[in-house]
Order: sequence, then C-alpha cells, then structure tokens
Amino acid sequence: MASPSQVKIYLAQWFQLGKRVVSQDGQNRYLPTPIFAGEGYSSEFEWIWSQVSSHHADRFYLEGTDQSIADLLSGYWQIESCARCQMPVPTCQAHWSCGICPCSDLTTWPNESLPKPRSPIQTRNYLRDICTRLEQSESLETVVS
Ligand SMILES: [Zn+2]
Repeated sequence: MASPSQVKIYLAQWFQLGKRVVSQDGQNRYLPTPIFAGEGYSSEFEWIWSQVSSHHADRFYLEGTDQSIADLLSGYWQIESCARCQMPVPTCQAHWSCGICPCSDLTTWPNESLPKPRSPIQTRNYLRDICTRLEQSESLETVVS
C-alpha cells in the first residue's frame, strides 16, 4: 500500500523528467519549479500536492498514467520500480496487474548518462554516507602507507 509520502516521492521523481500532473478535463497542468528546497519539497511542490491530493484527487493524473492520485492513495496500489528504467511505477495489489510505466512514451529515457531523479535529501543520512566513505578511504590510505 502506497503511503502519501511514497506518492509524493513518485511525483517528485517524475516531475524531474518533465512529467506533469494534469486534471481529467485538461484545464490544470502542474509542474513545480523548483521541486525541492533544501532537504525538503519546495513550497511550489507542496502547493501542487495540496491541490492534487485534496477532495479532487480523483480528477488528477500523472501524465502518461491511468491511475488518479486518489487511486494511488486508496490503498489498492503500491509503488514499485519499473523493470525498464527503475523509476517508481504504480502496481495494483488487487488485480496483480501492472500500471504502464510513464517511461513508455519517453524516447530519451532511461538515459544512463544522466543523474537519476532523486528524493529529497535527508541530511543526516547524506552526512552519514559521506562519513562512511571518508572512513573507508582513510582506512585504505592506512593500508597503503
Ligand atoms: Zn519505466
């Protein structure tokens, strides 16, 4: 079951590839810039999220998908990674069916030479990674000298 925070990460990652959230009638299209601010979401992103996850959530879709934001938040869907591009894609638990990955209409994706879309950086984890890497390189140097 997809949690609201997973759905937000799902949207944030696709926003980075230029996919928009559109309303059923085509009147509203949202793509926040910037997507992130510091280690969280930008106020533009949060505003769009409040629009598309509200009581109108059944009217909003990520471009190239059939699942409304309401579907994704309903508990019947979970977010898994696409076999082709590793991007998050909704799969339905009830029918064992796979949603079509929005990458299917992106001719330039996957692109191994581009950085992968990211989630908001959690500073603590990020710093811990850097520390681990420093410790590893220090212990390597000790071995060498
Ligand atoms: Zn894909």
